Amino acid sequence: MDSQRLQEFFDSVALIIGEPNVSRHSSSGGLEGPSGSTAYGDPFASPMSHEPSGAVRPKSVDEVREIVRLANQYVIPLWTVSRGKNLGYGGSAPVVKGTVVLDLHRMNTIVEINEEYGYAIVEPGVSFFDLYEEIQRRGLKLWPSVPAIGWGSVLGNTTERGFGYTPLGDHAQAQCGMEVVLPNGELLRTGMGAMEGSQLFALYKGPIWVQFSYLKSIYHSSLGSRIDSDIILVPLLGIVTKIGIQMIPAPEAYATVEVDVPQESDLVALVSILSDLMRRSVILNSPSIANIFRIALTSRVASVQGKVQGYMKPHSYVPYDVLEEIRVEQKWGFWRAYFSLYSQVELLPGLLQTTRRAFNAIPGATMKWREFPGTPGESITTATIKEEEIPHSGIPTLAPLAILNSRQKPGSHIDYSPLFPPSGRELYEWYLKAKQRTVDAKFDFFADFHVFPRHVIGIELIIYTDEEAESVDQLMRHVIHDAAEMGYTAYRTHLDYMDEVASHFNFNGGALKQFTTKLKEFLDPRGILSPGKSGIWPSGRSSVNSKP
Ligand code: ADP
Repeated sequence: MDSQRLQEFFDSVALIIGEPNVSRHSSSGGLEGPSGSTAYGDPFASPMSHEPSGAVRPKSVDEVREIVRLANQYVIPLWTVSRGKNLGYGGSAPVVKGTVVLDLHRMNTIVEINEEYGYAIVEPGVSFFDLYEEIQRRGLKLWPSVPAIGWGSVLGNTTERGFGYTPLGDHAQAQCGMEVVLPNGELLRTGMGAMEGSQLFALYKGPIWVQFSYLKSIYHSSLGSRIDSDIILVPLLGIVTKIGIQMIPAPEAYATVEVDVPQESDLVALVSILSDLMRRSVILNSPSIANIFRIALTSRVASVQGKVQGYMKPHSYVPYDVLEEIRVEQKWGFWRAYFSLYSQVELLPGLLQTTRRAFNAIPGATMKWREFPGTPGESITTATIKEEEIPHSGIPTLAPLAILNSRQKPGSHIDYSPLFPPSGRELYEWYLKAKQRTVDAKFDFFADFHVFPRHVIGIELIIYTDEEAESVDQLMRHVIHDAAEMGYTAYRTHLDYMDEVASHFNFNGGALKQFTTKLKEFLDPRGILSPGKSGIWPSGRSSVNSKP
């Protein structure tokens, strides 16, 4: 990056948004990360440097548009983040060192919450905590979906295809209506929100008039085209400044369920039963599956912690015979699935019965649940439920951050998220290989698998310390390669592996990549938006190692 050009860009941006909202260095200005630092970049150690050269923090859509025009003028690449909390995938760091972070966390208005139709319209800086707290403050009967850690951005998580735990937990699917600044600074609204008149109606709600539905978060398409999650969600082609996100109504009755199965090989039956119950709409939210290491690590049982802690240090892992001892002693499963049932009062006993019957097919399976039978015509309040280990009722939490430092402080984690068919067989085959690779590299396998009706995401989360950054990188490369050899790959990846994972989408000479590259060249001819994101580069460049 030409440093004079960069300073001129910062000077021009400062005239629009004020010098305090410009970071001319990456060392401060962002939201606080896990270690309390406000530096921009990946909060976790990685062998490649992704340090940005600074950041700019606009407050309005017009300011974003101005900044994009200036970035084109000075040819300064921008990396958009909403709150920059993308932990395990790179935080607020860009792929290319020196890129300027376009940090949208100051744009934090909740534009609308519609209780009747179950959606909210939010700006990028709105966190899952903000949305939840506003719903509680207004006393609305809605359960927003939140991911495991609630401090991230609703919008950022959705653009990154993240998920949470209610029946509308697949955020890219629950997203409806979007406002986008294009790489040339033009402003676009998608779906029915593209109709100017749809801005005009307002709805009387209590003491204030609420501007209503100008993004129309109730239908995905416009005439003949659906341009949002399929195209614009790719942060390469636009900067999203508002989204509509749908939420479930608070249910009348609720039960949160844990199913334990004893044998390692029971994973196959567990996944296939869960996905079948989802295809039949018995289970509506995506069940997550933990393995014995994770169950032991996150348990509050002192004797278990005593056994595990001695192994929790760099270049060490908890041996599987120790985990088996714990499992037998505590009468835990090798695997534990977590999901919930959401229904009307009359249906809940039937859903519980059906679910129990389904798991009887696995010898030794046990099912425990916490039941909120409810009252006809009333909704369960989250105040009754209180915080949950997994936020199935949409109560945001930061509790899982504690596992970061379980090996040594400061700790990091990285995630690998390959997709499989939902039979459980393919996941199990891959898991055995990945587990062996993990043991060989002296790390613990932390499973966070997510079941959907027609796919499973086999998330392996690796906790590591700074001194283990090189070995974790080698391990990641092995597991990514193994999965690709078996015909599987990831839907999302850490910055270090974007080129590699993108290279797996190679049908017909990489036709998909050629198509997205053409779109990028057309919409962003100067290549200023998120170069390298998901392995897509401006023309003339094909990977992080090639010259611009
Ligand atoms: P979170 O704080 O929810 O973890 P981030 O702000 O870190 O989310 O964003 C995650 C990723 O999503 C970013 O690296 C970027 O690629 C993409 N992204 C985030 N916000 C936007 C946005 N407003 N427009 C386009 N892409 C975005």
